[in-house]
Amino acid sequence: MGKLLIVGTVAFDAIETPFGKTDKILGGAATFIGLAASQFDVDSAIVSVVGEDFPKEYLDLFTSRNIDISSLEIVEGGKTFYWKGKYHNDLNSRDTLVTDLNVLANFDPVVPKGYKNPDVVMLGNLHPNIQLSVIDQLEKRPKLIILDTMNFWMDHTLDELLTVIKEIDVITINDEEARQLTGEYSLVKAAQKIFEMGPKYVVIKKGEHGALLFHEDEVFFAPALPLKEVFDPTGAGDTFAGGFSGYLTDTNDISFENMKNAVIHGSNLASFCVERFGTERMVGLKRKDIMKRLHQFKALTQFDIELQ
Ligand code: AMP
Repeated sequence: MGKLLIVGTVAFDAIETPFGKTDKILGGAATFIGLAASQFDVDSAIVSVVGEDFPKEYLDLFTSRNIDISSLEIVEGGKTFYWKGKYHNDLNSRDTLVTDLNVLANFDPVVPKGYKNPDVVMLGNLHPNIQLSVIDQLEKRPKLIILDTMNFWMDHTLDELLTVIKEIDVITINDEEARQLTGEYSLVKAAQKIFEMGPKYVVIKKGEHGALLFHEDEVFFAPALPLKEVFDPTGAGDTFAGGFSGYLTDTNDISFENMKNAVIHGSNLASFCVERFGTERMVGLKRKDIMKRLHQFKALTQFDIELQ
């Protein structure tokens, strides 16, 4: 079985959407990545940190999904990373109201012994120095290093972010962040500029408008499944990253052709994530529902056209 090493926040989220609001619920980039990746045949471990206020039932959720949390540090007396966000009416954009780094501010990550040689590394959203430290602890270069980030780190730690971007193979980023990182409005030009920063593959997520995968002169597009109801987009990007990295680890094939399938799997899982608040939908998700929706995905873009 392939090994997937996951880094990212494990968090409390408070979310407000046009449909309602939550108090502190389970969130965080690594949480969504781990839950999505656990739908595949992979061994995975999360490197992250929480405070003493983090409930045991959430820890049990990870272990029940066979996710190794031996390197999920619990800081005595510390407070868990906290994020509060409010979505606009179109649900495609949001304002961050609070980002309390708390225990994340002084976190020194330790890669578990059994994961110093993983097949794939998924560097989820958190401080770029932590992402870099995880790469530095690996015994040899993994088959693939994927990185996800967000505007917060571009605003506060751009130099550190550019340093880690040099070291990775694939970046997954949303359209606004790609524009912020490169200063280019055209996503094609933005992807080309990101190639110059280091990554060979660039995935640009466009929310309900799907995702683009760029590699050299090639580009692949996957739509997002049109859904009757979108309830809370939080974690969709991370769920995409978990599906993408989980599928590539499971299939042990990092060709561009297989990455196209990984984009579809990531998009498919993200379509479930947005149907309920937080992790609610991902927790009870069944294999048969995932397969059913994959068929819908295929039908959505399949057509027969005769070309000369
Ligand atoms: P997404 O909707 O995929 O962009 O991810 C939302 C998740 O990212 C939430 O569960 C938050 O806890 C987490 N998050 C928000 N801000 C940050 C940040 N600056 N660094 C890392 N994770 C964050």
